[in-house]
This record gives sequence, structure tokens and C-alpha cells, in this order.
Amino acid sequence: MRMVDLIDKKKRGGQLSEEEIAFFVEGFSKGTIPDYQAAALLMAICWQGMDKKETVALTMAYIDSGERLDLSGIEGKKVDKHSTGGVGDKVSLIIIPLLAAAGVPVAKLSGRGLGHTGGTIDKLESIPGFRTQLTVDEFIANVNKHKMAIMGQSADLTPADKLIYALRDVTATVDSIPLIAASVMSKKIAAGAEAIVLDIKTGAGSFMKTLGKAEELAEIMIKIGQSLNKDVLAVITDMSQPLGREIGNANEVMEAIEVLRGEGPPDVVEVSLTIAAHMAVLGGAFRSFAEGYKGLEQIIRDGSGLAKFKELVVLHGGDERVIDHPELLFPPDLNKIEISAESTGYIAAINAEMIGLAAMHLGAGRREKEDQIDHAAGITLIKKGGDPVDKDDIIAVLRTHNTDYQEAAELVRNAYTFTKTPPPPPIYVKRTMSSTRGSKSATQLEK
Ligand code: URA
Repeated sequence: MRMVDLIDKKKRGGQLSEEEIAFFVEGFSKGTIPDYQAAALLMAICWQGMDKKETVALTMAYIDSGERLDLSGIEGKKVDKHSTGGVGDKVSLIIIPLLAAAGVPVAKLSGRGLGHTGGTIDKLESIPGFRTQLTVDEFIANVNKHKMAIMGQSADLTPADKLIYALRDVTATVDSIPLIAASVMSKKIAAGAEAIVLDIKTGAGSFMKTLGKAEELAEIMIKIGQSLNKDVLAVITDMSQPLGREIGNANEVMEAIEVLRGEGPPDVVEVSLTIAAHMAVLGGAFRSFAEGYKGLEQIIRDGSGLAKFKELVVLHGGDERVIDHPELLFPPDLNKIEISAESTGYIAAINAEMIGLAAMHLGAGRREKEDQIDHAAGITLIKKGGDPVDKDDIIAVLRTHNTDYQEAAELVRNAYTFTKTPPPPPIYVKRTMSSTRGSKSATQLEK
């Protein structure tokens, strides 16, 4: 088999066989296929796409490139979630304690990664003492005893995806639906998931800018699940503006605590409860989505979700005082910058991408793998889309240890647009799709 023939075939819109896909993934992982040929094939895939059979074969080749985490020692069905990523997405922090309180085992592997803020692991590490380096045995024992544990994703899972993703990142080949689908699904399956709920973000601040693109991604991921015998359900949620009011690592932990106290902003509450309710149904804790949603609301109301979060913090060696005093997450030496409204009226929109970039400038995220995160750096959006505002009202507050914050402040200022008339209310959950239940619009899902 010759790599040049595979590139030529895909360039002309042909279908690659399972053997050809395995040849590419194995060869690239071993270093026998050079970067330039791999990049050429990836670009051809971007233009010509891949059908279901090819995408499933790519998913399997990624899984077979490394180890699979054996979670058979965990009692109960292993349900995982994945978000395609967005600004202010702290849903994982909220659903872990909620599901554990409902009796659904949560064995969460999470990444750090590059981006506007750190990953879930970085966010939790903003709690002093919080330790995420567990052995697999410790991880499994914690899930069995406490119904929850979280640890960093091991390099042994899907190493081929990691290598190919790094190449995609520098060759403008990330935004291909089959390449994203295979990358995400392989990681979840190698990490032991039996059922997966996908939070697919759509809107200006996400990979999938339109609802149609988000649906296309959901559809292929559901089909991969069907082929590999996993239940997959996709929820398409709004990322036209940041999720919630807090962006940053400590900022997002603070907002997760607010949600668990019953005081969270409506978008974060609705998206988190929707994802968690679907996971709880797949995990067998409730019979229907409506029952799950109500049950989880009760878990917030009676305080058991917050108590479970405290248990998670203690379990991982973190300082539990932050649950009652989240202000402890923010050292006193932070610079605080206030941004005020330029006109009177309503907030028309907040560009999520610009806010994300500003958070990274403040130190909340990594540009390069080696960068250090400032856990306390972040942005509080005092005003969100649709809120009434008077000229000179404070609309956002930035916190950072950096002294060079002018660019971030400018980005936040420019991210806001204003209108004289109230904009239409946002729809946080746009659509739910699954293989078993067909597809329903958000409004058809009765709570
Ligand atoms: N996230 C992933 O894990 N993989 C992709 O390809 C894109 C986003």
C-alpha cells in the first residue's frame, strides 16, 4: 500500500477502506508516514469528507492505537459526557456531583488542553490542594465508594489521535466533521464509556457556527455510537454568547457552586440539568427526561448536590472551605478592571470568541502546552444579552495578576453590542437528537 495512492483516491472523492485507514493511522503513529503526506490526506478529507464507514474505521483505528481503560470494576452503567467546547462551559463541574447524588457513577477523565481557560482539571485545581493524579485503582475505588472521581486523561489512550490532532492544529484541518467525530468518540470509548451524552455547542463562540453543522456533527457521532454498540444522545446548545456570567478557572468553580446552591444563572442551570437528566436516564436512575430533570432540581433544592461537591473536594485533598467561601479562590493581590457600558438600552449580544480571547490574555488559558495558568484570572459578565443597561453601568469585571491588561479590556469592551429595543429571549437548548428516540426540538421536551 502506498500513501500517495490514498491521498490521490481521497482527493478524487473516493472511499478509503478500513485497511487503508488503519495503514495511515498506524504508519503515521510509527513515523513511517511523513507529516507532509499525512497533512495532504487530512486536507483531502476536509474537502471531500468521509462517509459513515470511513469515520467508524478512523474511530476504531484511533482506539486501537492505544490502551482501553478497563472500568469493569465499577458497578453500574458508565455514562460519560463530552462538550465540543465553548466559553464559560463549566457544565462538567456541576453534573459530576449532581449525578453522584442521584446514584449514577461518574468516572470522569478530563483534559487540560489549550484554550480560553484551562480544562475541567485546571478549573478544579484552582481549589487549593485539589489533586487529580490518581492511580486507576484509586479512581475506580472512589467511584464505587463515592459514585464519583475525576482524573487527568492518560497519554496511553488514543495516542494516534493526539499526534494527528497536533498536525491538524497547524494545517487548518481541525474543522472537519468526520475528523472531529472520530477524534472525540475514540477518546470517550477508549476511556470506558458505555453511553455518551454530547453537548454540541452552536453559535459564534463554537466550532459549529450554524445549527445545521451542529446537527451534522451530532448525526455522525450518533451513527458511530450505533456501529460500536454505545448509546449516544446529542444536545445542541447555544454558544452565541458565553455560558453563564463567569469565565476563568476559579471564576467557573465559583459559578458551579452558585448553581449547586440554587443561585445559578438560567442558561447554565438549564444546560447543566438537561445534560445531567439525559445522563441520569441513560444510567438508569430515572425513567424519563422529565422525571430526571425534576429529580435533579430537587437534588439542588435539598442541598445534596452541594454536599456531594464538598465530598468531591475533600476526596481529592482540596480545601473544602471554598464551598462556603468561594472568595478564598481569589488572592487579594489581583488587579481588578471594570468595563462600563457605552450607551443606554439593552445588551444586544456578547461575542463569545472575543471574551474567550480576553480571558486567555488575562492568563486564564494556555496558548502553548507549557504555559502556566493563572487560576484566579478571569472575567465576570455583570450584564448578559437582553439585560437593560444605562450608559456607564459596569457591564464586566476583569481580574488578573498581569499588569498588561489593556488588550483584554479592549476585547471585552468590543465584545459587547448594544440596542435600543429588547432583543428576543435566547434559546439555551436548541435540539436533542438520539438514535433510539428519534429527534425532538427543545420545546417538545417537556420538563
Ligand atoms: N476536540 C477533540 O477532541 N477533537 C477534535 O477533533 C476537535 C475538538
